[in-house]
Amino acid sequence: MASVQTADIRQAFVTHVDDNRLMDCMRCGFCLPACPTYIHSDQDETQSPRGRIALMKAVRDGTIAWDGSIEEAFDLCLGCRACEPACPAGVQYGILIEETREAIQSVKKQSLKERIVRKGAFEHLFADQRKMKTAVNLVTFYQKSGLQKVVRKIGFLELFPPFMKEMEQILPEPAKRSRPSMDKAQVQVKVAFFAGCLMDTLFQETNRRTIELLEKFGCEVVIPKGQQCCGALHGHSGELDKARRNARSNLAAFDVVGVDFIVNNAGGCGAFLAEYDQLLEQDPVLATKAQQFTAKQIDISSLLVKLGAVAYLESLPATASTELVTYQDSCHLRNVNGVKEPPRDILKAVKDCTFVELPGADLCCGSAGIYNVLQPEMASRILASKMMEVKGVQASTIITTNPGCLLQMKVGIEREGLSATTRALHLVDFMYEKVR
Ligand code: SF4
Ligand code: SF4
Repeated sequence: MASVQTADIRQAFVTHVDDNRLMDCMRCGFCLPACPTYIHSDQDETQSPRGRIALMKAVRDGTIAWDGSIEEAFDLCLGCRACEPACPAGVQYGILIEETREAIQSVKKQSLKERIVRKGAFEHLFADQRKMKTAVNLVTFYQKSGLQKVVRKIGFLELFPPFMKEMEQILPEPAKRSRPSMDKAQVQVKVAFFAGCLMDTLFQETNRRTIELLEKFGCEVVIPKGQQCCGALHGHSGELDKARRNARSNLAAFDVVGVDFIVNNAGGCGAFLAEYDQLLEQDPVLATKAQQFTAKQIDISSLLVKLGAVAYLESLPATASTELVTYQDSCHLRNVNGVKEPPRDILKAVKDCTFVELPGADLCCGSAGIYNVLQPEMASRILASKMMEVKGVQASTIITTNPGCLLQMKVGIEREGLSATTRALHLVDFMYEKVR
């Protein structure tokens, strides 16, 4: 991005990046040990929250000349927001990095490849749920038709980058058409289910089980029609206007007054939904509805715990299983929504397994939306250290609460040659196994 003029990028920062938020940073450095990119870049200050905030301020103030290394420092941020809970000054780093990326996008002359990728992802795939379903139907056809076997047999995938080959190997199995339902409890609460785009296509089996679990624990579940992708991928990539467009569609789809909770089963989506109030705070028509929508957000583990799932699991008979289960936090579920204990409470309550805490579970796994595709080197470094920890605790099952983390754990298992002994599951799928 060397062709961008320093004056232009400075003006873009003045327009998009809130100076007051930058001023909140008192440069204490408490955030440094929480930041995966700082840790995995041999403690390079420019790859830390404090360093990035200093760069944002310097660009905005015009005290630094714009060059590729500054953009790279912003690109390498995972957006995991582990720096926020660590910060004593309450710096809103997540908003700052989104505003920074929006500023960069506003002046950047994108390459043809980037234009095609962004247009495909943000204006088609993640903008319209029907297009996402069409794409996943093609994947299902690929798996079911025998094409996948042929492609693997002739080694066609060797022609592509290693990451694509790995993703192909860990594609979830096509959803089954029918299965017996669980008993339904008496209705205690009415909830609207946010189905998500990846969760409702690639992981539709997990979504179906989520609804069954909710019903089993006393929910009347409605699935609003017309709901769209939450907009997180857009927002994290500097496309905040497109994220607002998706947020407005979702506000139109959900009846916030008619339900007790709006529940989701994907940490990344849940965090973005929980910040619609900030995203739309300047919207004269929807700001109030966005606040009501935000106030009703809850993730599946918190809601199940509220509805008595822990006591229920503890009441089930024990078996002689020796399954060793560990948990990798979804960064956004933990750092943005503050949900740390409910998934662990559920896992500890399951009798026929032993829960073991994963050292560094609070550190990002390197998935971070499409970060593992855009920044494969740093993502691989982070994943390798994560898998070292998994091997250290000798877990046979890794539980996650976000589709990106789940896919990343599956990639890690394949890379380390652990697929014969270790599996990765969404918390919902694991719990479903235990209670049905
Ligand atoms: S912990 Fe907060 S205040 Fe301290 S350097 Fe990091 S961002 Fe700034
Ligand atoms: S969001 Fe994550 S990667 Fe980015 S600065 Fe904060 S802790 Fe580091």
